[in-house]
Amino acid sequence: MKIILYAIPGFIFLILAEWFYGLVRGRNTYRVADTITSISLGSISRLRGLLFLGFGAWFYTRATNGKHLIDFPVEGLGIWLFALIAYDFSYYWFHRVSHQVNLFWAAHVVHHQSEDYNLGTALRQSGSGLFGFIFYLPWLYIGIPAEILFASGALNLIYQFWVHTQHVHRIGVLEYILVTPSNHRVHHAQNKIYIDRNYGGILCIWDRIFGSFQDELADEPCIYGIRKPLKSYNPFWANVHVYCSTFLDSWHAVRWQDKLKVWFKGPGWRPPGLEAAYPVERASLEHFRKFAPSVSSAVNTYAFFQFISTTLAGTGMLIVANTWSSGAVLLSLGLIFFSFYLQSAWTQGQRFALWLEWLKLGLVFWLSSYLPLSSTMLLTLQIYLATSGLSLLWLTLPTNANTAVAEPGSHIDKG
Ligand SMILES: [Zn+2]
Ligand SMILES: [Zn+2]
Repeated sequence: MKIILYAIPGFIFLILAEWFYGLVRGRNTYRVADTITSISLGSISRLRGLLFLGFGAWFYTRATNGKHLIDFPVEGLGIWLFALIAYDFSYYWFHRVSHQVNLFWAAHVVHHQSEDYNLGTALRQSGSGLFGFIFYLPWLYIGIPAEILFASGALNLIYQFWVHTQHVHRIGVLEYILVTPSNHRVHHAQNKIYIDRNYGGILCIWDRIFGSFQDELADEPCIYGIRKPLKSYNPFWANVHVYCSTFLDSWHAVRWQDKLKVWFKGPGWRPPGLEAAYPVERASLEHFRKFAPSVSSAVNTYAFFQFISTTLAGTGMLIVANTWSSGAVLLSLGLIFFSFYLQSAWTQGQRFALWLEWLKLGLVFWLSSYLPLSSTMLLTLQIYLATSGLSLLWLTLPTNANTAVAEPGSHIDKG
């Protein structure tokens, strides 16, 4: 998925542009902690590829073995147009199943946890899920070349980036054909009338044909997020919380068929009796409150600096991973993931973040002598360590210690 790697600078630029535009217009749609979490989840989702070889790609080559029904011309606009539409059709069904079957929802939920809606939300992607490729296999059997189908998938994902904004309203006749900011806002909303609607990737015609379309209504403002709120910025918990709750429901279910059924039913379904015995909190739509722990701006600034550094290190890993030994890649990935976790501890106002951060800087210092770094990379790392160390010392000073990390949960932003 090299195309997506090349698109990353464009994504970052557009996120910054949307943020500035919101500030200038007095309608900022970003919050630091939420944005850090969303983009960290996007990075983790990409970095996962370095840990697990593409299971889908392996299966594709094994399953089709080059056999296919039709010999399509591999050049010209026709095959690309056909592949884009074919991929989008499969994406619609994969996405619909991802909302209606718990096993798939457990992976896809990551994209929906944010209670904000902005271009950063678009990058919030799952780090799990292995079975999506099944939905695209038939096109390989029919004869779409694998490279063209994979590229269509990347283009589909890139298209979906721009629709995650609240600054574009309706775009006329295109609302009938394409997925747009307006009809995708509906997809991210948890209002009763909006839930489980608008599954399209590029085209919204599938939703119109298969009866899952809902227009954005002027008198029903979108409330973003999921019915059972995550209430955490921890990107690893974000990736596993639905697997855990489904596993617990399966464990607690009395009848053996319910133990199995819970994985294949929708997210709203629970085995009989469990709601009374193990109630789950659902967000109040009448008095909706976003998850917003209170931390000082000094802590937020430090977390933001660590986030930028970790994201740059993660992007660098995607570029150099092929030339490094697997030991060096694994150790670096471990530290990058640890750093992503620590950012959530900072932004949730957890006091132990300070001490774990010292541990992390120590590990980075130790690792820098082990990694095959160029002199420029080594210098960058030393500047990073010096800046982080000095900032951390400043945060540790008794005068800042009290204001550095406030108790979480005191400030709540009204949605
Ligand atoms: Zn979705
Ligand atoms: Zn989305």
